Amino acid sequence: ERAAEQKTALVFGGSRGIGAAAALRLAKDGFTVALTYVSQPDKAEKVVAEIEALGGHALDIQADSADPGAIRAAVVRTVERFGPIDAVVVNAGIIRVGGIETFKLEDLDRMLAVNVRGVYLSIQAAVPHMRDSGRVITVGSNTAVRSSNSGTCVYAMTKAAVATMVKGIALDLAPRRITVNNIQPGPIETDMTAAMIPRLTEMVPLHRVGQPAEIAALVSYLVSEEAGYMTGASLTIDGGFVL
Ligand code: NDP
Repeated sequence: ERAAEQKTALVFGGSRGIGAAAALRLAKDGFTVALTYVSQPDKAEKVVAEIEALGGHALDIQADSADPGAIRAAVVRTVERFGPIDAVVVNAGIIRVGGIETFKLEDLDRMLAVNVRGVYLSIQAAVPHMRDSGRVITVGSNTAVRSSNSGTCVYAMTKAAVATMVKGIALDLAPRRITVNNIQPGPIETDMTAAMIPRLTEMVPLHRVGQPAEIAALVSYLVSEEAGYMTGASLTIDGGFVL
């Protein structure tokens, strides 16, 4: 069912928001797409249906990015169904807000498990199944550059870890010409920010929040052949927020 020239992408956290937009964009760019989710199968199935309506192939896989076994199983299922992986987008991420005086250990552990360990393990699991000259893209955050609000310390620190991780993994994978880059969005209109849109709009120099499709467009560039000289980079796309 998969044409010889067709490329495969695996999007961790591809059922809603930025990840769903990336999955859809990759399908439009000709990729066969596997996408993971953790809690909302209906949303994942909707993305698969949208891709199939465009004539593409897609597969949704339940896999909690905090669970190493689930991550490995997602990679295996992707490869069994679609063959070697050309592009990995590690988008799954969560935010829990709170100051240091009250922040709960369970929230700290969950944030680290999904936003840091999960990112590393997703890439580690996928790499043995990737073609040379493949593409790895993480979704960090502009808060790695500047935390503008109190209560976002843990979130920002997880995203700073991603920016640093990407540099090291880029060096590790350079011999195989696999590039590894990190997108750092600012406020984007998704479920994660739904309650804060008016306040965020005020804070952005371009005076609007971004749309998931604008991040997906950068994903599309980074997976393209012409982006092959960029690796280890963190690209901030935030309407000027951190300037
Ligand atoms: P959403 O909350 O809208 O969507 C998150 C996606 O990730 C969903 O598909 C969700 O699946 C999946 N996901 C969450 N936790 C896990 C998990 N443990 N295992 C597997 N999948 C998981 O988020 P956004 O689209 O807003 O954000 C996507 C990424 O972009 C995150 O890493 C976020 O930190 C980052 N980001 C977002 C910004 C914004 O303003 N929106 C700004 C900067 C960075 P499910 O539906 O099953 O829960």
